[in-house]
Amino acid sequence: MAGPLTTEAVVLRSMRYGEADRILHVYTPMRGRVGAIAKGVRRSRSRFGGRLEPFFRLQLGLHEGRSDLLTVTSAETIAGYPRLREDGPALDAAARACDAVSRLFESPEPHPEVFNLLCSMLVLLDEDPAAGAAQERRLAFRLKLLLAAGFMPHLSACANCGEREAITGFSPAAGGVVCGACEAGSFPLDQAAHTFLAQALGRPLAQAPPADERTLRLADRVVLETAAHHAHVRLRAAA
Ligand SMILES: [Zn+2]
Repeated sequence: MAGPLTTEAVVLRSMRYGEADRILHVYTPMRGRVGAIAKGVRRSRSRFGGRLEPFFRLQLGLHEGRSDLLTVTSAETIAGYPRLREDGPALDAAARACDAVSRLFESPEPHPEVFNLLCSMLVLLDEDPAAGAAQERRLAFRLKLLLAAGFMPHLSACANCGEREAITGFSPAAGGVVCGACEAGSFPLDQAAHTFLAQALGRPLAQAPPADERTLRLADRVVLETAAHHAHVRLRAAA
């Protein structure tokens, strides 16, 4: 697929390279994570301006040659999320969201729903940085990422035997909640955490359910251990 292409993209990472260049990791709707080099970007008169920075949503022109890295030929801003950039917790949430996408979706497989989810998270962080960076929202985002990656924890019944009552724990190995008879290798999961997981997955990101600190810690553990066990990916904690 050599030649020119245009795509929307969110900048996940942007690293200095050599005298004046930058290497970018961007996430695209149809080609997943893409590595690209932007030449001369750090010269003061670069046509790219300052928009090849993390979290920018861009319309990118790229050229695909023989290298693994595509070459950036043009970049127009679709959204720069200026309020997000002025808020420490929102920046942290955006960085962790991009990092999780980068780790869980390394391959060129298309996942347009992941691109849309990441853009929704950035929009929410920009509209209301404090609410956007709340732990509930961060965890709902990560649960939805696991779902898109095909590692959705089994929540409706014991992942081992199908029992619907007496759910007592979460088993990363079994890939979901487990009952008292199947709890080997699990950690305790109470009703509040079980309900949070189901609601966070069932509702839009903007309506992530409220939860107390213990519930959020358990939900984070579910995400981290599921990613480690099934995707073989070590995610950073949600916050
Ligand atoms: Zn069971």
